[in-house]
Amino acid sequence: MKAVAVFPGSREVKVTEQEAPRITQPDQVMVRMLDIGICGTDKEICAFEYGTPPPGDDRLVIGHESVAEVVQAGSAVERFRAGDLVVPSVRRPCPHPACGACRAGHQDYCYTGDFRERGIKEAHGYMAEYIVEHERYLNLVAQDLRDIAVLTEPLTIAEKALGQITWMMQQRPPWLDPQTPGQERGRGLSALVLGVGPVGLLGAMLLVSAGFTTYVYSREVPPNPRIDLVAAIGATYVSTQTTTFAGLADQMGRIDLVYEAVGHSHFALEALRVLGTNGIFVLTGVPGLQALTEADPARLMRDMVLKNQVLVGTVNAGPDAFASALRDLALFRRRWPEAVRTLIAGGYPPEQAPELILGRPAGIKTVIAFG
Ligand SMILES: [Zn+2]
Ligand SMILES: [Zn+2]
Repeated sequence: MKAVAVFPGSREVKVTEQEAPRITQPDQVMVRMLDIGICGTDKEICAFEYGTPPPGDDRLVIGHESVAEVVQAGSAVERFRAGDLVVPSVRRPCPHPACGACRAGHQDYCYTGDFRERGIKEAHGYMAEYIVEHERYLNLVAQDLRDIAVLTEPLTIAEKALGQITWMMQQRPPWLDPQTPGQERGRGLSALVLGVGPVGLLGAMLLVSAGFTTYVYSREVPPNPRIDLVAAIGATYVSTQTTTFAGLADQMGRIDLVYEAVGHSHFALEALRVLGTNGIFVLTGVPGLQALTEADPARLMRDMVLKNQVLVGTVNAGPDAFASALRDLALFRRRWPEAVRTLIAGGYPPEQAPELILGRPAGIKTVIAFG
């Protein structure tokens, strides 16, 4: 079968022919990959900054954002049968009995760091014609989400973050009613999203649908389809080219939540300075290690203490985030069908994957099609 792999030894990225995997355990499912999304992580792996093949292997099949169709289910599989659509999760648990997170099925919170990640760390990814996976790592997808389900994995980042934020918002301020329903979690609160990549835009959609007055701040200037998308979902776009952080803070009033999806440390620290009282700051981007910026740690510390602020980082996602991402994708499509469509530039053959990953992406979320 065909697969797209990196070869760290020879520093190559190419389409390879390899043997298709087979079901070897009764709880395994064989799936045919349909769509595989490309993201910044793939770019870093293909630039050999990151990414580890399975032990003893010379290559790593890339790809971790996908939707697939079940072709065969092992004898002990209960939830899936041929023809079902699925989205597989990415991280696999570490082997250590003492890791409470992994033992509870929440390897996104793994304590040891010895987890594996498909398409990233010590396990082959999804940019291949077929994969075999244990039933417990697959999430069932409604048939009518076939064309957008590839967005599930990137959306889980925002879902996990919002899950944590909700918890913090509902536990911390004693005057809030913990019974507030989901759609109204953000009512009366303002959120600032940094960045207009897929993680930022999906995050903005989630925040708008949770009731936050949402602003998106990035360097793009109009005309730009990403800016149009921000407007289409009812958020407000502000460009760094025309407005400073101070100007943005004036425009927004109190900023209750910052959702960072850029991975640029200096930009994030600037944003932390405008975070309001009782505010929560969520970091999702992973910056390269850069030179020390002129951040003022004393000022940050004063603000965090005197304003009761919370700084939270979040990576990967658990099964609950996959379930809510699939639910919310359906909701986004009902609410903003046009905007959701613009997110995806799909249908590119695997042969074009290396140039699309290393060169200019074709769209907001560039998608390779195997099916
Ligand atoms: Zn990704
Ligand atoms: Zn673990």
